[in-house]
Amino acid sequence: MIIKEVIQIGNPILSRKSKFVAKIDSEETRRAIKNLIDSMRYHNLIGIAASQIGEKLRVFVTEVRKTKYRNLEKDKLRVYINPKIVWSSKKEVVIYEGCGSVAYAKLFAPVKRPEKIIIEALDESGNKFKLEASGMLSRVIQHEYDHLNGIEFTEKILDMRMIMSSEEYKKKMALKK
Ligand SMILES: [Zn+2]
Repeated sequence: MIIKEVIQIGNPILSRKSKFVAKIDSEETRRAIKNLIDSMRYHNLIGIAASQIGEKLRVFVTEVRKTKYRNLEKDKLRVYINPKIVWSSKKEVVIYEGCGSVAYAKLFAPVKRPEKIIIEALDESGNKFKLEASGMLSRVIQHEYDHLNGIEFTEKILDMRMIMSSEEYKKKMALKK
């Protein structure tokens, strides 16, 4: 298992645009995907994009589940290669986001994005799939998709006065239940 350090904001690698993956069935792509999955799980993240571990590829993975930061309903592990969001709902919702690249996921802030999306991508076997997502899965997909274009969620924070530490966020979520 190879655990990669998550690159932190301020590092220009995170602002780069990632490149389309030309060869899905290659050692490089397979290794990058495995490193992404291992690193996501190790760092308690529910999604991670290749740029965050220094790979300039249009690849990200998601696995919505319970982590030390949040108690979420489970969605299976998914791999997205050369993804494209082909539809977004007009309706937008505000959800708190954190990121492994922003103070090692110790900072949460409200971001407004479309509630639902449809994404098309290739899976790790190179098969094309189309997925309609809502809730937290939709949110993670949009966040990771931004990473492929060099965009960090801190550029989209709705209200700077509502930024919270992960500890305070956890308390807030506990009160909400
Ligand atoms: Zn992120």
